[in-house]
Amino acid sequence: MYDNLLANVPTDLWIGGQWKKASDGARFDVIDPATEKVIASVASATVDDAKAAVDAAQAAFPAWAAKKPRERAEILRKAYEIIMRDAERFAKIITVENGKALSDSRGEVAYAAEFFRWYAEEAVRNNGSVSMAPASGARIFVQHKPAGVAVLVTPWNFPAAMATRKIGPALAAGCPVVLKPASDTPLTMLALMPALEEAGVPPGVVNVIPSRSSGKVVSAMLHDMRVRVVSFTGSTEVGRKLLHEAADNIVKPAMELGGNAPFLVFEDADIDAAIDGAMVAKMRNMGEACTAANRFYVHEAVHDEFARKLTAKMAGLKMGNGLDDGVMLGPLVNQEGRDKVIELVEDATSKGAKVLTGGKAPEGVGYFYPATVLTNVSDDAKMLSEEIFGPVASIQTFKSEDEVIKRANDTEYGLVAYLYTKDISRGLRVSEKLDFGMIGLNRGLVSDPAAPFGGTKQSGLGREGAQEGMKEFLETQYVSMTW
Ligand code: NAP
Repeated sequence: MYDNLLANVPTDLWIGGQWKKASDGARFDVIDPATEKVIASVASATVDDAKAAVDAAQAAFPAWAAKKPRERAEILRKAYEIIMRDAERFAKIITVENGKALSDSRGEVAYAAEFFRWYAEEAVRNNGSVSMAPASGARIFVQHKPAGVAVLVTPWNFPAAMATRKIGPALAAGCPVVLKPASDTPLTMLALMPALEEAGVPPGVVNVIPSRSSGKVVSAMLHDMRVRVVSFTGSTEVGRKLLHEAADNIVKPAMELGGNAPFLVFEDADIDAAIDGAMVAKMRNMGEACTAANRFYVHEAVHDEFARKLTAKMAGLKMGNGLDDGVMLGPLVNQEGRDKVIELVEDATSKGAKVLTGGKAPEGVGYFYPATVLTNVSDDAKMLSEEIFGPVASIQTFKSEDEVIKRANDTEYGLVAYLYTKDISRGLRVSEKLDFGMIGLNRGLVSDPAAPFGGTKQSGLGREGAQEGMKEFLETQYVSMTW
């Protein structure tokens, strides 16, 4: 099964348009979380390799930045088309290294490719401005120039989309990149490189260096004066470290970090729509998403109906190898991820939570955990303050609007909140009071390449997607002129 699928997936480092071994020859294994089998051995970049990648990116920078926007746009558009042509292959690669069900992987591939199409369209709209200085009458001429070499660091939960969401705008802006993918899932990005080459991305413009020594390798790049941007998606803990490191050389940071999304269901909500939204907000990617609904707050008048209907849907999901037909719930990415879910559920039940479905990891091979619904979750349960990152829905009730807003905001995170109500004026009023970068109002999905994705508080800095996403890779230059 793997041979056919992975036969043509490269496993070395992609630097300056060539496949290279690690300078010390080191490699690491990639595991299929459904079978626990080793599926590939990938070169593990060293600090020297990272330097070589920055050399290659810097060398490619002037020519890439000087390309006409339309030329860059057409290369990005071609990349979109090639990914969609090979969508099924990319989806399967994602499933074997990450575990997610093939339907989730297919959705991710389309979402990932869309960042190239969107930024093909944005590459030609890097607009500046001219105005007159009010006092002196000088002209204020403003343009946005590519910032320089960008280091991109991505997580395992969306091996394709979290990377294309950075590569797309960086390339559109005229920046070359060095990408360090997550060690659990390096294959998807390695498999993408021949596609980018076919699309016409010149050597050195995109470099990919998987590494088991992430800390050292990324730190070395952030201390290289040629690196001007670091765009990171991952945990708040690692993001904070990288912000400290970026401070040394004043590297421009973009940080997409953790979340702890509340999902509010008001008494006037369309409950069936709320259930559909809940299934997406909770179960997209098996709950392994920064946007995953982590805390369900359901008005006491509709709690029983909501809990019953959600339980029925969750219990009906088929669990198994993500490649198999009809499977909607694959394994979690690794043993550590599953242990964390087991621990959080045990903690909640020991504090009085009632299990409506699931709640027990199966015996046998693979890092599986069943779709689980817990109600009567107590306020001190750890899962209310930590990211569950698994298929577990925790439900609490509320009585009033003010109370639920306060509880929803009572988190150090501020990525996304969801709310369901038929009263749109209430929906907007509550949205404004929720301290989150994104709101799903009667929607369980907010991710969209055309929308600014990002959070407040400890969920990060900056935005990805939309016009704003390209600004992370641009520096503003102003020329004061007179004639
Ligand atoms: P992670 O442990 O922070 O790892 C993310 C990336 O950082 C990986 O490539 C990892 O490499 C690398 N890394 C780890 N330690 C590092 C260090 N000291 N210096 C430099 N790089 C380092 O996060 P994860 O477990 O992969 O992903 C889950 C987290 O990502 C969750 O908190 C989730 O909420 C967040 N996330 C946020 C968003 C968003 O847009 N806000 C989207 C998706 C996920 P290795 O794999 O080699 O350790």
